Amino acid sequence: MDFQLTEAQDFFKKTVADTIDRLILPKADEIDEKDEFPWNLWREFSRLGYLGLRYPEEIGGMNADKVMCMIFYEEIARGSVGFAQSVIMNILMGTYFLYRFGSDAIKERCLFPAMRGEKIATMCFTEDQSGSDLGATRTTFVRDGSGWRINGTKMWITNGPICDFCTVLATSDPTKGLKGLNFLLVEKGTPGFSSGQVINKLGCRGTVTGELIFDNVWVPEENLLGEELDKGVFYLGEVLDEVRLMTGAMALGIARAAYDEALEFARKRIAFGKPIGVNQLIREKFAEMDTLMNAARLMVYYGAWMLENNMESRIIAAEAKMYATEVCLKVVDELTRIYGANAFAHEYKPQRFFRDARFLLYGGGTHEVLKDFIGRTIIGKL
Ligand SMILES: Cc1cc2nc3c(=O)[nH]c(=O)nc-3n(C[C@H](O)[C@H](O)[C@H](O)COP(=O)(O)OP(=O)(O)OC[C@H]3O[C@@H](n4cnc5c(N)ncnc54)[C@H](O)[C@@H]3O)c2cc1C
Repeated sequence: MDFQLTEAQDFFKKTVADTIDRLILPKADEIDEKDEFPWNLWREFSRLGYLGLRYPEEIGGMNADKVMCMIFYEEIARGSVGFAQSVIMNILMGTYFLYRFGSDAIKERCLFPAMRGEKIATMCFTEDQSGSDLGATRTTFVRDGSGWRINGTKMWITNGPICDFCTVLATSDPTKGLKGLNFLLVEKGTPGFSSGQVINKLGCRGTVTGELIFDNVWVPEENLLGEELDKGVFYLGEVLDEVRLMTGAMALGIARAAYDEALEFARKRIAFGKPIGVNQLIREKFAEMDTLMNAARLMVYYGAWMLENNMESRIIAAEAKMYATEVCLKVVDELTRIYGANAFAHEYKPQRFFRDARFLLYGGGTHEVLKDFIGRTIIGKL
């Protein structure tokens, strides 16, 4: 067994951490407070090439392996979860289906500019009445001449209101459930495609999230992303483990930021004439947080390594996402206890971590749904 990062991974980790320390950390509170998309930061990240993180060098990407991807996701979430969400959407789900199934023209028009940060991408699954239950998708598409006509409304879409294009989950027939699902590309400026309500979110502020409306939107044949009709769920399965591990890595990032804040506070806050960190009950919190974070990190990176080595990673990815998120919520909770009343003030960081961490409960699958999946897979068909 070898738990050591390769030289390239180690160098990448140091470089990314330095970038986050310099570019994001000083602006993280401002991003949260203003709740506006940080265009300048986006341009800086684009210039550094991070938006092409997981794609091959031949097409202008960084060709990062799965472990390197997790390093990046963890670090950027340590900086600002709001900004991280927007960036990761471009890197992963917003572009995955274009990379996998897009024609040369689609790649030229959408994928490559998104990898350079010149275009903003997103992915639309969720609707008002369907989140976890993708089989209940009501956005439809039908054949119309040499293309497809799409109708429906999506909700909770990261980058939605500012996106240049989106990959939309739609059904060829709502009565088919999961067996009717497909992915289609819709570009900004297409008649009938518009942005609706922008959500005023509890956390992950700085990323713009909202409703996207598809009112009789017509797209050409090639915008159906997939080799075969109605195989959307199968294609989604190709990237699901990566998405779940990515969410776990983001959880590690927030947990680390919260832990660092707690440590600094415990060392300097004086109560009863001594730093609170000398108290056994406070030390116990650090022992527990550190143990949990180490366990979560092992799971996330082990999952990434398995994925990179084409090993079966469905269960470990779901477990790692779930476990790392619960650890993150625990660490953030402990921070708010260690910090005392100041954790309750907008002026200090803990409340931001507290709000941001809640998002992890939904992205990548809710824990009830993940537990059900893990249990079902382990027990098998009876
Ligand atoms: C900040 C943020 C950004 C997001 N960005 C995007 C995006 O870019 N694109 C996108 O498509 N979506 C996005 N989402 C939506 C997210 O994917 C959904 O919230 C998620 O899929 C859960 O769906 P839901 O909220 O509708 O909850 P539901 O699926 O309605 O679940 C509600 C509750 O019921 C439970 N439940 C459901 N089914 C079962 C079951 N079988 N057994 C036990 N319990 C069950 C759930 O665990 C949960 O507790 C975003 C959400 C947030 C908060």
